[in-house]
Amino acid sequence: MTITEPAEGEPAGTRRAVWWWLLLGGAALVALAAIVVPWDWPGPDTSGAMDPDAGLTADTLAAIHDYQSTAVPLGLSAHAVSIALALLLGLTPLGARLVRRLPGRRRWPVHLLMTVLALVVLGRLVTLPMTVPLEAARRAAGLSTRSWPAWALDVTRGVLVDSVSTGIALLVLLGLARWGRRGWWLLASVAAGLLVVAGSYLYPVFVEPVFNSFEPLPDGRLRTSLVQLAAEDGITVDEVLQVDASRRTTALNAYVSGLGSTRRVVLYDTLLREASAAEIRVVLAHELGHADAHDVETGTALGALGAMAGVTALILLAGAGPVRRRAGVAGLHTIEAVPLVLAVVAVGMLVALPAQNAVSRAIEARADVHALELTGATRSFEVMQRRFAATNLTDPDPPRWLYLWFANHPSAAERIALARSWSAER
Ligand SMILES: [Zn+2]
Repeated sequence: MTITEPAEGEPAGTRRAVWWWLLLGGAALVALAAIVVPWDWPGPDTSGAMDPDAGLTADTLAAIHDYQSTAVPLGLSAHAVSIALALLLGLTPLGARLVRRLPGRRRWPVHLLMTVLALVVLGRLVTLPMTVPLEAARRAAGLSTRSWPAWALDVTRGVLVDSVSTGIALLVLLGLARWGRRGWWLLASVAAGLLVVAGSYLYPVFVEPVFNSFEPLPDGRLRTSLVQLAAEDGITVDEVLQVDASRRTTALNAYVSGLGSTRRVVLYDTLLREASAAEIRVVLAHELGHADAHDVETGTALGALGAMAGVTALILLAGAGPVRRRAGVAGLHTIEAVPLVLAVVAVGMLVALPAQNAVSRAIEARADVHALELTGATRSFEVMQRRFAATNLTDPDPPRWLYLWFANHPSAAERIALARSWSAER
């Protein structure tokens, strides 16, 4: 990749402008992250008394480590294999050759969508030797409650959702590259940011219902208590929904999604069934913390800037002569460029993951503090953390590198230490 080598049909001056735009986007992303992310989250170090076992019994810890020792290698190898496939297809002429064999070549949008579908399906197929045993391990551990046909249906749904979302993004990118007027790259970068915003807004409406059904929490003591808690917090939550998570898992969870009119707090039905009312209040209070701090908006803004900078970097990289020659691709305006684009995206996402998760952990810790401040229920908070770890079979204190790369929440041990130091300060 060099500045002096222009992309297909582009003067060197354009390439310099693209570099400047990338620098500007990267700087804006770093500046926004520095300002809006609560980096000073009161980590476990302040208490100095973190219990790596999070107070779990020896039996539970054994079950967790038993499951993790199977699931982690399988999950990591699935990750590695899909990236290896993306690189193989993207950085050798193999991908371009595959694209030329696919149907629909007479109309480029059809050809593009066929290509995306083929690559997503291929990605799923090569990871089956890992994902099938992983599902088997989840079933053996009691985490998965779905039948194999239901699992296959979920995989199919995932393929469709991935293909549609990737397809839309690539239609925009390649469409602009084919149009090819001056400044198309700038429009592509801005469009990537807008797609992230639209995605955040539409996700709860179009994607979540593909996998689950949602319904309002039924009237009763629990609903009244939760609505009251939100009112105490001064937060208007239009919708507290329960989701039928139990159709595929015993795992417990809750989350906030959507922007503006699509914002909702979602509680897993498994959580409502297993946890005590006091614990559920703590979980809701944590989600209210996200709403209060506008964390979905923060995440969306960071994601949009990341996508803008990412697409700019992608255009520079995939447009660079040596890279294109290696992939046997004439330029980003051709469908043959799709495997190359997906390879660059796969590597970019892997590289960005530690930063993304560091942001997520800081935001999650802030929501925990909010939950503690709102409810004052340190004890229920701790019980809940233990219940989460024991039921979801998550390592209360995972190996450092796994934590840094993949953990989007502080560990159970950290969250309990956080609660204790919070309570000791009072
Ligand atoms: Zn959270």
